[in-house]
Amino acid sequence: MIHSSLAQLGAALRAKKISSVELTQTYLDRITRLNAQLNAFITLNPEASLAQARAADARLAAGTADALTGIPVAQKDIFCAKGWLTTCGSKMLHNFVSPYDAHVISQFNNAGAVNLGKTNMDEFAMGSSNETSHYGPVKNPWDTARVPGGSSGGTAAAVAARLCAAATGTDTGGSIRQPAALCGISGLKPTYGVCSRYGMIAFASSLDQAGPMGRNAEDLALMLNVMAGFDERDSTSLQRDKEDYTRDLNKPLTGLRIGLPKEFFAEGMGADVAKAVEDAIAEYKKLGAVIVDISLPNSKLSVPVYYVLAPAEASSNLSRFDGVRYGYRAPEYSDLADMYEKSRAQGFGAEVKRRIMIGTYVLSHGYYDAYYLQAQKIRRLIAQDFTEAYKQCDVIMGPTSPSTAFKLGEKGDDPVQMYLSDIYTIAVNLAGLPGMSIPCGFGANDMPVGLQIIGNYFDEARMLNVAHQYQLATDWHNRAPQGL
Ligand code: GLN
Repeated sequence: MIHSSLAQLGAALRAKKISSVELTQTYLDRITRLNAQLNAFITLNPEASLAQARAADARLAAGTADALTGIPVAQKDIFCAKGWLTTCGSKMLHNFVSPYDAHVISQFNNAGAVNLGKTNMDEFAMGSSNETSHYGPVKNPWDTARVPGGSSGGTAAAVAARLCAAATGTDTGGSIRQPAALCGISGLKPTYGVCSRYGMIAFASSLDQAGPMGRNAEDLALMLNVMAGFDERDSTSLQRDKEDYTRDLNKPLTGLRIGLPKEFFAEGMGADVAKAVEDAIAEYKKLGAVIVDISLPNSKLSVPVYYVLAPAEASSNLSRFDGVRYGYRAPEYSDLADMYEKSRAQGFGAEVKRRIMIGTYVLSHGYYDAYYLQAQKIRRLIAQDFTEAYKQCDVIMGPTSPSTAFKLGEKGDDPVQMYLSDIYTIAVNLAGLPGMSIPCGFGANDMPVGLQIIGNYFDEARMLNVAHQYQLATDWHNRAPQGL
């Protein structure tokens, strides 16, 4: 059962071959056995999960089930879920029990999915290795001495280790795609505005986007059917007709134009990653695709631009965590200013503080024009490169991450090295485009490699088709870590 896809699980539930309570208990037992090794989950609430499972079973019995009714889905701990501890990986929110549901959470609840638990993550989603979490690092199930990627590392590890059927992530600069790549699973960041950000704790609001993480493209399509949709409580949520993201899965790829950006295939990418990605491109040619050489000349500026804009937005978003309106309050202080200072100094970790300081700096008088405004202008140029590229191709492909999973602690004291892990993913967020990662082989130390597929705006159904056809022809996505 634990290796089944969402479609298979849904069919088994509807055929009464298994109940949602049994399925939920199976996963809860696995989590009890394996979470100490992996640290993928921060919070479990078996009573709440099993209550949802019983309700799902009633719905299944009544014949009113949807595709995901009764299926246990884990939620990144960035999503507020009513009655659940919601920490965002931070000491600042160590005791925050959310009084309401994020839009994404209520969509899953309405669909009858079971909330299996909250997954570990980098503190406030800032990181590429899951080592900034207040709750300790997550371990990669393929090799527990290595990182799972970040910031949705708990989700990626949980899916890879079969601790849940599928799970959610969020992606501000690569946090769905990079951990998906490093853990050998599939993940999709939708077009900005497709999933509501309501109740998703804000990091950099103009970049943050929720998305599904699962074992294959079909699972992602079923998840996105639930997650996507207009919500008036998020002013950047897009009002569009509801889509069925599974509708194009089975289209042939004959004539598909795949753009390969020369900047992605230059120095920086590991030889092992290059080999796996090139093999995947060769497979696409066999499936009938044609290759187009393209250029994204400004993409090389995406990391510096992101590390001005994302901290700027974060410094504003995180100002609400002051020990009064939200969050941790220092036990001892002399006056009001001292209370703010001590609460924030004790409640936030080092990476979050670094971002708040950079963000405050680039927004301050005298530096705003030189840094923030300049970065916004380059952001536009980066987006325009993609618009030009899509005149010549249908999708863009390349590596998701320059290397496979690195060792825990390897980049911990070098923030710039860590920031470069997202060199291939960040431009997609700056442009607001959809991007995904699917497993395409193994590299050094037998660690998984991810292929990145970048689509044009609202082209998720086509990207899922492109991924699904590859997954019908290959079996990388079915490989699971041994011994768990
Ligand atoms: N790794 C990037 C960062 O640290 C992206 C994180 C994300 O997408 N949430 O900001």
